[in-house]
Parts: sequence; C-alpha cells; structure tokens
Amino acid sequence: MSAKLPKENITRGSNGAHKLTPCPVFIGGEWREIGGVGTSPVFNPSRGETIAEVPLCGADVVDEAVEAAADAFPAWRDTPPVERARLFFRYRQLVEDNFERICRTVCREHGKTYAEARGSAYRGIENIEYACGIPSLLFGDTLENLARGVDCETMHQPLGVCVGITPFNFPAMVPLWMFPLALACGNTFVLKPSEKVPLTAVLMIELLEKAGLPKGVLNLVHGGRECVDALLVHPKVRAISFVGSSPVAKYIYETGTRNGKRVQANGGAKNYVVVMPDADVSNTVDALSTAAFGCAGERCMAGSTAIAVGKAADRVLPSLVEAARNIRVGPTDSEAQPDMGPVITAQHRDRVLSLVAAGESEGAKVIADGRGVKIADAPNGFFVGATIVDQVANEMTIAREEVFGPVLNVMRMADLDDAIEIANRSAYGNGASIFTNSGKAAREFKNRVKAGMVGINLGVPATMAMFPFTGWDESFYGDLHIQGREGVQFYTQQKVVTTRWFGDGVGDVWKK
Ligand code: NAD
Repeated sequence: MSAKLPKENITRGSNGAHKLTPCPVFIGGEWREIGGVGTSPVFNPSRGETIAEVPLCGADVVDEAVEAAADAFPAWRDTPPVERARLFFRYRQLVEDNFERICRTVCREHGKTYAEARGSAYRGIENIEYACGIPSLLFGDTLENLARGVDCETMHQPLGVCVGITPFNFPAMVPLWMFPLALACGNTFVLKPSEKVPLTAVLMIELLEKAGLPKGVLNLVHGGRECVDALLVHPKVRAISFVGSSPVAKYIYETGTRNGKRVQANGGAKNYVVVMPDADVSNTVDALSTAAFGCAGERCMAGSTAIAVGKAADRVLPSLVEAARNIRVGPTDSEAQPDMGPVITAQHRDRVLSLVAAGESEGAKVIADGRGVKIADAPNGFFVGATIVDQVANEMTIAREEVFGPVLNVMRMADLDDAIEIANRSAYGNGASIFTNSGKAAREFKNRVKAGMVGINLGVPATMAMFPFTGWDESFYGDLHIQGREGVQFYTQQKVVTTRWFGDGVGDVWKK
C-alpha cells in the first residue's frame, strides 16, 4: 500500500487526542506503511509522549529492500558521475529550503535544542556538498609508458549495495555522513536509521525523492537487531557503514566481515580535555561547558572528562560550576528555547543518574548537581541538568563507562605527562583536547595523545566533511573511516588497467 508522506509537525485532532506520525519504509521508490515483526515507540523526549510507532522490519522486508537496491545498481552505476552529482546539487537546495522542517523534526524526536539541530544539520549539508564534487573525487592516476608501448591507469568503481546503520544522537547528520557519498560514488543503498529517531530519516529521503532519486537507488527500512542481522548476512550487501555504541560496532564489524562485507564501524567514546594552568580561563570555561553539556552530552565527541593540571582546577572550576548551574534545561519543541534539552529516553536518563550515583558512592564529589531538575511545563520529559563530578579516579565506574549525558568528570593531575598517561589508558580513542597557551605543551599533547581527533584550544574537534572521522581503538572498527577521501575509498574498489596495443594491427590506420 502506498501511504501519504508523513507530516513532520505534531498533529492533534480537534478533540485534543494525539495522532501518531506515520513512519513508512521506502523500497523501490514506494512509501509503504507496514506492520513489521512488531513496533517500537518513538518518543518526544521533551514531553515523554509517544509520537510514532516505528515498524521493526524482519528479514523479508530487508530482502525486498536489498533486492530493490541490487536491481537499481546497474543503471545507477552507469549514470555519469556529473549526473549523479547534479542529483546532490538539487538535494542540497531542497534540504536548505526545508531546513527549518528538518531541524524541528530533530528537536521533536531527539530533543536537541533548535540551535543544536541547526548546527548538526549543517554538518550534514557539508557532506552533501562534498558529494557534489564526486567527478573530481573519482579521478584515477595514469602512467604513460609503464613499459615500452604499455600504459597503466587506475579506476575507482562502485561496490554495489551498501548499507548504513545509524545511532539516535544525530538523526540528520549521521545518515548524511553515509548515503550522499555512497550514492555519488555509484552505489545503491539501504538505510536503517535508529529506531528511536526514524522520522528525520523519512523526511530526508522524501526530499531526496523530490530531487529526482531513481527508484531503488536508496531504500529505507526500520528496526532493531533482527533487521540489522538480516542486513549483515544478506549475500547482495557489499559494504556496511555503522555508527553507534562500541559493543554493537564490534559485533557489526565481526559479523559483517565474517560474511564477506567491507565494514567501517564507529563506536562510542570517552574524550579527555586537558586544562593546563596557563589556559585562558573564560574561553576554556565556555568551550568546556559546550563540549560537556552541548546536545545534553549525547555526542561521541563530547568532552566528558576534564583533566585539570596543577593549579588549573582552582582557576577554572568556580566559573565552570557557575556556568553549569546557569544552564536552563527545558523542552525543545516550543518557541521558547532552553540552553539544553532532555536525554533520549526515560531509561537512558535513569542510566545517567545511576552512573553519577555510582561515582558518588565510589568517592567522587558532585559539585554541580543536575539530578533533581524539574520542569514545570514538561513534567514527563526526560531531563537531567548539567552535572559536574569532581575528584574522579580512573578506576571508578563513571571514569570508565561512556555516560552519554550532561555530566562532566573532573580529574586532577600534577603535570602534563600524568594527564596524557591517564587519557591514554582509555579503551576508546575518539577525541582529545588541550587548553593551553604553551606551544610546547600543545605540541607534546598532539604528538603523544592516543586519540584520532585532537583539539588545541577547541572542545569538540569533530572533523568536517572533507576530513575523515578518525576514531581509534574501541571508537572504530575497520580500516577506512567515514567522510573525506577515505570515505570515497571505502565506497569504491580500485581497478588497475594495463594496456598495450600491437603495432601492426588496426591501431596503425593513421599511417595509411
Ligand atoms: P546503539 O549502538 O545502541 O545503536 C546504533 C544502531 O545499532 C541503531 O540503529 C540500533 O538499532 C542498532 N543496534 C542496537 N543494538 C543492536 C544490536 N544488539 N545488534 C544489532 N544492531 C543493534 O547506539 P545509540 O544508543 O543509538 O547511539 C549512541 C552511541 O553511538 C554512543 O555510544 C555514541 O558514542 C555512539 N556514536 C559514535 C559516533 C562516532 O562517530 N564514533 C557518532 C555518533 C554516536
């Protein structure tokens, strides 16, 4: 059954009853509302209300989607790169034209503030822009006269059906890390967004369809483990891009590669921010507060642990505590925007609170406490206020587990060597930053710290579309990272063609 495309705004009937937003799949160019093997609620975390029921697709629907993508591949592969790029020029414009709609959908199903939704959606747009450059990005190399009369060239060809499995925390941006570049390279695609935030993905694909997407080139399925497992073993899937937590990233990598697929799997993180005694106080406090509490701490690049070196704690902590206490928390689905929104679910809020409680019981001190926050006009929202936990030691649960909430750990170290050693003991390796006025300290840090993305006087050193997103260790499983030239390499396979033409054949016609 072909369904009407979903409206992104909250709809209420004349009697005030809440209507659920449709959440269809998109397969072979058709929008369909299906039952799946079950459903899962999508919340507006600002209100604690169910706003949609997402169908959980089983192996049958996954098979349909992959087959549709496989059928669409030959014609799409043969579409010239300049034409594929034009699809994304049109798409970019449509995303810009519908920017407010997209951001409001992100606010509504994820709980980001409008400013955060805008910022992250723009990071996504930059990935569309990068994909628009595909004719130049696909250039190969040539060497004339590799041997006498022999030339050699490299070509970059698409793989076939690629899959994207995305997390809840960036509903617009992370899917845009994947499908624009994969499609621009000539692949077809099946997207499986987080079942917690499927509505933004529906809207993003609705816009791609309007831009002129040929049938079957991009397909959308929904669901959880069962759906993912069917994608991981499907014989026609060639490559899998994954972003989510580390245990799942590892599982996706191991299962996908065991089934012969190319896999890039981004995992979770614990990012250290070293504050040296000579750091500029007001800039450091602003940056640290944004790094720890921006997006309610639900960022893989959140600066979740500050390591204060020497007198840095005395210089920075009083203002940081004041900044945390001044952060206004509230619902993000209305005009009056707060500084910080809710976390994704009630269950996740409870996990964040229990990790803070564990820190306290293991000897840490809560010096800014957002646990008791109450929002009068949104009593059922999933809120946690900005929280700072001081005197955290490396063996504590809160020091080791990714909290993924608005919680900043503070550790105190005597010198930079100790700070780097603590940061380097982490199992993860996504981001790390240093705040200092010393070039020598910054140089030492950037060379020695064990993390793939490093910031100097910058709280969130997340890379933009033209650079790879270079997590290390348990923050990444695979070889080629998402974004940038590595992204192009991931979504293509290289062919080397060596050519010789014989002298006495038809090649000599010009002499006659
Ligand atoms: P998650 O791992 O729970 O889910 C991610 C995706 O995997 C979802 O689509 C989900 O449906 C699917 N999934 C969940 N459990 C599964 C299972 N057992 N088997 C198969 N598939 C499964 O992650 P999340 O809670 O949605 O997102 C938050 C996590 O993502 C955090 O750990 C965060 O650090 C990480 N993240 C990492 C990056 C990065 O680039 N490194 C970026 C954003 C988020």
